Amino acid sequence: EIRVRYAPSPTGHLHIGNARTALFNYLFARHYKGKFILRIEDTDQSRNIADGERSQLDNLKWLGMDWDEGPDKPGEYGPYRQSERKDIYQPLIDQLVAEGKAYESYMTEDELSAQRDEQRANGEMPHYVDEYAGLSAEQKEQKIADAKAAGITPVIRFKVPVNREYAWDDIVKGNISFGSETIGGDFVIQKRDGMPTYNFAVVVDDHMMKISHVFRGDDHVANTPKQLMIYEAFGWDAPQFGHMSLIINSETGKKLSKRDETVLQFIEQYRDLGYLPEAMLNFIILLGWSPVGESEIFSLREFVKMYDEKRLSKSPAAFDGKKLEWINNQYVKNADEDRIMHSSLEQLIKAGKVEEAPSALKLEWTRKLINLFKRQMSYTGQIVEFTDLFFNGPEKIDEESRQELAADNALPALKALEVQFENIKLFDTVNILAAIKAVQKETGIKGRALWMPIRIAITHEMHGPELPESLELLGYDLSMKHLKEMIN
Ligand code: GLU
Repeated sequence: EIRVRYAPSPTGHLHIGNARTALFNYLFARHYKGKFILRIEDTDQSRNIADGERSQLDNLKWLGMDWDEGPDKPGEYGPYRQSERKDIYQPLIDQLVAEGKAYESYMTEDELSAQRDEQRANGEMPHYVDEYAGLSAEQKEQKIADAKAAGITPVIRFKVPVNREYAWDDIVKGNISFGSETIGGDFVIQKRDGMPTYNFAVVVDDHMMKISHVFRGDDHVANTPKQLMIYEAFGWDAPQFGHMSLIINSETGKKLSKRDETVLQFIEQYRDLGYLPEAMLNFIILLGWSPVGESEIFSLREFVKMYDEKRLSKSPAAFDGKKLEWINNQYVKNADEDRIMHSSLEQLIKAGKVEEAPSALKLEWTRKLINLFKRQMSYTGQIVEFTDLFFNGPEKIDEESRQELAADNALPALKALEVQFENIKLFDTVNILAAIKAVQKETGIKGRALWMPIRIAITHEMHGPELPESLELLGYDLSMKHLKEMIN
């Protein structure tokens, strides 16, 4: 049976890279009609954040993923939080110690860091050197007794087999192998606080939870040989591994790091800005996976259907913000009107542009305004910036626009329009359009030479949505005021 898992550590909010990992496990499970499990890896208690687990689950759900077993969905192999599985790990650690495959290590943090510093100073890669090397059984016993007497709590280290090769056929990257001497020496499997380390707990859990395939980030490649050693020590079969390529910032060409402030990296941030979850999901799937053919816009159901792990790319995936905007715009344009309306209104309220409970009249006006800008939006948060003119008045006119207004035809057109507007009965789209047409007829000025000066005079912009609609929403008084300012 196919069983995969997404195993976040609640040390932060759902990051775009994590979401991608979750998604590829999810797609794999759903495509092959297997199970998708969610497991919380919270053994590093100093790094856990209060809201971490909730944020992870909540944002995965927002993106449209569901799971078959997890901390909020009991199953046969629970509990699904590592901090609640200590009773499962302890006997297994004891077993390794009893078999001589692991041992108590009393070196203190200070000693360990001194050792690393010295190795670095000698140009070596920092690694743990067996603290009992070269000691007789008696000396070793004495050393341990002294450490105990000094009140030092030990960690448990796994004894790394000597001169061995640990290899696997990675689903994404192909054959990978590590010599056992390259992994930094005997590594910790149980910390001083009694918690297992990631490398130990992950093996036990993947085995106990019958995980068949593990898709995870490229940053875990170096952990895999350690995990293979533990599988071997217990005589268990390892799952198949697939390590997904890293994500790079397409602007800088550098690995996307959480410190990179040029890119929003947390799903919550996109959610707050009014991105649509289906669009985010679509974008994330394309990070490192390519569908057959030209089209790139698919629903989650379609992705599940056509998913093929062989199309996961080996080379780094470029995070391209422009593509994200483009994809989102495709979704916004096709989205249910009410949904965009609701979300945009929320954004305007959040920005303090519209009151919490607007009057019916104001609501009607706001709805028209949102509709006017809908096709331009990549995410509904943009409505605030797009509609600035309607709340804060026009920006200062720029040089290019000023030159447009200096054209021969501009002033006569604007003057004729002023007269038309003065006689207008109802300042609505139909009448505004009729007024502009009347100016055209009267002056013979048409096309761009007519429309551009009007747009610039009243909105101070060279571009924008449909002009008559825009002016209706701006209203008679303001439109006239701006127009007169340009004429006089
Ligand atoms: N808790 C690990 C992480 O957040 C999971 C790694 C794995 O999938 O094995 O990176």
